Amino acid sequence: MAASGHPSITPRDGASTLVSRWPLLGQRRPLVAYLVGLVIVDLIAIVAFAATTAFSWADVLTFAALMGCGVACIEATRRLGVPAGVSRDLLSAWWLPVALLLPPVYALFAPIVLQILAQWRVRATVLHRRVVTAAAIGLAGCAASVVFHRFVSGPAALLRGEYATIALAVVAALVFALVNTALIAIAAHTADPEVPWRAVLWDRESVLLDVVELCLGVIVAVATSLSLTLLIIALPPVVLLQRSLLHAQLQAAARTDPKTGLLNAAAWQREADTEIVRARRTGETLALVIIDIDHFKRVNDRHGHLVGDQVLAGVATTLRSQLRDYDVVGRFGGEEFVVLLPGADLHEARRVAERLRNRISRMAVTADDALVTVTISAGVAIMSVHGDDLIELLAAADLALYRAKELGRDRICIPAVQPPPPQIPEAPPAA
Ligand code: GH3
Ligand code: MG
Ligand code: MG
Repeated sequence: MAASGHPSITPRDGASTLVSRWPLLGQRRPLVAYLVGLVIVDLIAIVAFAATTAFSWADVLTFAALMGCGVACIEATRRLGVPAGVSRDLLSAWWLPVALLLPPVYALFAPIVLQILAQWRVRATVLHRRVVTAAAIGLAGCAASVVFHRFVSGPAALLRGEYATIALAVVAALVFALVNTALIAIAAHTADPEVPWRAVLWDRESVLLDVVELCLGVIVAVATSLSLTLLIIALPPVVLLQRSLLHAQLQAAARTDPKTGLLNAAAWQREADTEIVRARRTGETLALVIIDIDHFKRVNDRHGHLVGDQVLAGVATTLRSQLRDYDVVGRFGGEEFVVLLPGADLHEARRVAERLRNRISRMAVTADDALVTVTISAGVAIMSVHGDDLIELLAAADLALYRAKELGRDRICIPAVQPPPPQIPEAPPAA
């Protein structure tokens, strides 16, 4: 087993203030290049399409009406708050009609308007995230618009309700969803190449939402082509859907640790308790692993908290990618993680913990010119061997973790087994 336990850190110059002011600079270089490239392509598309578009008052009015609905949607839901991290909305219900009914340049402008509003009225987040989101949605809308207008001459075609036109609108909506998903997935994969493509591209909930957005967008587009006043009827159901979607996301966020996306301590404890009750009923084995990043304070001290946070997120992603769907993973607090492995015996739990230790030690986070790597120590406890309920298992695994730290870190330990009570030899039978 490897012995040394501290993060391999290269000294850096005083760039932390620049990074805290411009968080984009703290990202991996390939990611920065990709995001800047995306925004440049978006700007070029805006200039190119604006130069070749004949603006008309009717188009501007339709654009203003659809953006007005988008604004109403944001205003009607903003008091609910937004979940931390990546959240979904139903604003495509307004972007898609812009793409289908108006020349492509409007699709490039639409997300800029609504992202500025969201930044101002909903939550001020890191600016580059808003800019990149606007560019990705803008380019996706522009692609959908180009595909649709290549075959359909104007909004009147949608009004006639011909099958071919509706089918083409659906194809354009699919182009919108695919381009947007691809652009964001490339960013997510570039940010963390360890995350498999399938994880960034495919998420059942997300695909379901894409389908709902797609249907809404096409219906609103047909209604808008009929009459702008029909938007007044379309607005309330979309707002209601948006509110229920937000509500569901907020509920999920209440269980999640925002920095890592893992379960937070309270939610983990609830799920772990349920698993333990089940294991006791079925007589199955179960293992608990407490993981602690070694010398994490040094990462913060030398590279700043932002990089520390990236390391936490990286460790969480590695944990998630190495475990089965039904393993219960949570962030216990600070730089400590907990994993419950249903069905695992001591041999299996040690094997899994060793694999996690190995993978995390190979993970690297870029910070300025340095690559930050960390190691972990872990304590493993087995149900019915080291404890019978969650509290006992946690206490046993924590003791084992403490031992791993004392023995030099970067290792997995199990609780020291109590020596069996000395056997009192039976007195030989009297002859
Ligand atoms: P050891 O190997 O003994 O575990 O040493 P350590 O430095 O990892 O442990 P210590 O308890 O001394 O320090 C933990 C550090 O984790 C201190 C704290 O600032 C940092 N930390 C806790 N939560 C967060 C967080 O959310 N983000 C960042 N960046 N740092 C955090
Ligand atoms: Mg700790
Ligand atoms: Mg630690």
